[in-house]
Amino acid sequence: MSEDAVGDIAIIGAGMAGLACAARLKEGGVSPVLFDKGRGPGGRMATRRAEIDGETVRFDHGAQYFTVRDSGFTAAVADWRDAGVVADWPAAGGDAVVGTPGMNAPIRHMAETQDVRWATRVEHIAREDGGWQLSIDGEAHRFARIVIAVPAEQAAELLAGHRDGWEARARDSASKPCWAVMAAFREKLPLGDVFKGDDVRWAARNSAKPGRDEGEHWVIHASPGWSARNLEMEREEAGQAILSAFFDEAAIAPQSPRHLAAHRWRYAMTDPAPGEASLWDGEEGIGVCGDWLSGPRVENAWISGDHLAKAILA
Ligand code: FAD
Repeated sequence: MSEDAVGDIAIIGAGMAGLACAARLKEGGVSPVLFDKGRGPGGRMATRRAEIDGETVRFDHGAQYFTVRDSGFTAAVADWRDAGVVADWPAAGGDAVVGTPGMNAPIRHMAETQDVRWATRVEHIAREDGGWQLSIDGEAHRFARIVIAVPAEQAAELLAGHRDGWEARARDSASKPCWAVMAAFREKLPLGDVFKGDDVRWAARNSAKPGRDEGEHWVIHASPGWSARNLEMEREEAGQAILSAFFDEAAIAPQSPRHLAAHRWRYAMTDPAPGEASLWDGEEGIGVCGDWLSGPRVENAWISGDHLAKAILA
């Protein structure tokens, strides 16, 4: 889009909430443009690739699975099932569903039918001439209406100076961090597919999920408390510390990994302040959605995005 053209509606953030909003808008005849700072589809449903001994291995280092209870979300998931981008994973619970071949598959699938600009960070928003100006790489992009679909802390930054009440709600919905470890082993560990400990909140045999790469691959998440206490730890040190806590808490003999990597999610699990599942101001043409408005899960992010699109279309 040239600098002077004014688009109809921009969505900042193409995670589950932003894309759910986009999908419902498109159904209602409105075509948004989405901007996401990530290099590819995923958001917190990310899948990380690693080269291990010449093979590419994918790890779900963010969300591990999702539940499907809401009727609207059930219909969306049925479509993804037909498209082959999700499957059940009973190891995590009776109603647990995962993306296939990675957790980011439904996000990729939803993005395919939308105009998404990846690797594009919106630095700032400004109200101009009855519309909105988005600053991207020092350039102004103008839209009549905007949706902010990013984690609470990042939403608060964008909202500063525009909607004080909304900014305050974002600041009240602080997210907890999570250190995630991706590990590959030569031998099968003597454990079931899922382990839950204390400092290790969750560990899962990633390679046991449907449609995954062969091998013995694990994703281990430290608890919010451990992650907060060690937020500024070096990546390598955090990886080793969480791996040894995992062996200790699972009471199994330590194995030296053939691959070990750690990722810090600074804003992992939200703790929503009570209120509406999304926010929309039709007069100003600004809306907000995301898990932090509705609940700390993938399903809540979808519900929030869908809720906002319905308000916009109404
Ligand atoms: P996000 O997925 O964070 O999407 C927001 C998008 O906005 C991102 O893609 C980001 O790149 C983009 N963005 C941010 N700022 C900007 C900007 N300025 N400009 C452009 N783009 C921007 N949920 C479950 O249901 N089950 C689980 O097992 C589970 N486990 C989890 C484990 C971890 C470690 C983490 C991190 C999360 C987990 N969750 C889980 C939570 C779940 O991933 C989230 O609730 C859900 O993915 C949130 O979707 P969202 O669209 O609101 O946000």
